[in-house]
Amino acid sequence: MATLLPTSTAGSLPKPSWLAEPEVLWSPWKLEGEGLVEGKQDALRLALHEQRHAGIDIVSDGEQSRQHFVTTFIEHLNGVDFNQRETVTIRNRYEASVPSVVGEVSRQQSVFVEDARFLREQTDQPIKWALPGPMTMIDTLFDGHYKSREKLAWEFARALNEEARELEAAGVDVIQFDEPAFNVFFDDVNDWGIATLERAIEGLKCETAVHICYGYGIKANTDWKKTLGSEWRQYEAVFPKLQKSNIDIVSLECQNSHVPMELIELIRGKKVMVGAIDVANHAIETPEEVAATLRKALEFVDADNLYPSTNCGMAPLPRHVARGKMQALSAGAAIVRKELEG
Ligand SMILES: [Zn+2]
Repeated sequence: MATLLPTSTAGSLPKPSWLAEPEVLWSPWKLEGEGLVEGKQDALRLALHEQRHAGIDIVSDGEQSRQHFVTTFIEHLNGVDFNQRETVTIRNRYEASVPSVVGEVSRQQSVFVEDARFLREQTDQPIKWALPGPMTMIDTLFDGHYKSREKLAWEFARALNEEARELEAAGVDVIQFDEPAFNVFFDDVNDWGIATLERAIEGLKCETAVHICYGYGIKANTDWKKTLGSEWRQYEAVFPKLQKSNIDIVSLECQNSHVPMELIELIRGKKVMVGAIDVANHAIETPEEVAATLRKALEFVDADNLYPSTNCGMAPLPRHVARGKMQALSAGAAIVRKELEG
C-alpha cells in the first residue's frame, strides 16, 4: 500500500432506512425484485461515497447487498436447507435458529462477484471484500450430514476459495475472512481452523486478511465480554500459529478492549489492521483517542505494517454515528502519519 497507515473499516456499514430496518441484524429488505437489485446498488454507491468523504483509504461495499455476513454466503450453497431449522448455540454464547446442512455442500454460482465488479467500476481506490471464514460458517449451522466440524470446514474452504479467486479476478485488492470463532475454539483453530483458512486463500495473489473480533455491539456479545475478566488473552492462543500462516493481514479489536496490546508482538511480521474504533457504543472517538491507540500499537507493529481500522463492522449503529467514527479514524490516523513523517 503506497499510503502510510492506510485506513479501512472492518466491513459492514449501516444500511439506509429505505433499504432495510436500521440498527438490527438480519433486517428484512424493504424492497423486492428489480427495485431491490437497484436499491442495493444505490446503497453501495452511498456507502462508498461516505467512506471516501470520511477519507477512508481502502474502501468496501459496506456489505450493503447482504442481510448478514455469514448467512448470505451460505444461502448460495447447495446442501444447506434454510427451511429445516435447528436451534444451536453460536460461539458458545447465544442460541439461534439456524439452517441445516442436509447434503454435500458446494457453491452453485458466484455469490458476490457481480457486486465486487460493480464496486470496482465506481472507484480507483484499493478495495477490500469480506467473506465469512470456514470455522465461523460451520458455527452458524446445524450439520446433519457430515457430522464433523472439521470435514464441513474443509468443504466450505473449497467453496470460499472458488469465490475468492473470482473476486480477485474482478479486481479486489484485499480479501478478508471474518473468523470471530477463532476467539472461542482455540484447539480447533490450531488443529484445523488455520489450515482450512489457508485452503480458502490457496493460489491467491491479492492480499488476504483474517478478521478476529469480539463481535458486533449486540447484547449477547457485550454480556459475554463481561465474563472475560480484566485481561482478554484469547488472541494469545492462536497468534503463534497464525504468525506462521500464509495470511498477510490480521484484523484485530484494540479500541476500549481489554486485549493487552503486547500480544500483537506474537504476530510480528504480519500486517495488522488495528481496531481503533469501538463499535459497541455510540460515542464517537476523538481523533486524539484514535491516535493514542495507534501509537500504542506502533510499539509492537512496524509502521508500514499498521493499518488503522475499526474493531468490527458498524451495521448495527445509527448512520450518523458510523460516519462520525469513520471521520475520527481518518483524523486520528492523519495525526500519527504526520508524526511518523515529521
Ligand atoms: Zn468483527
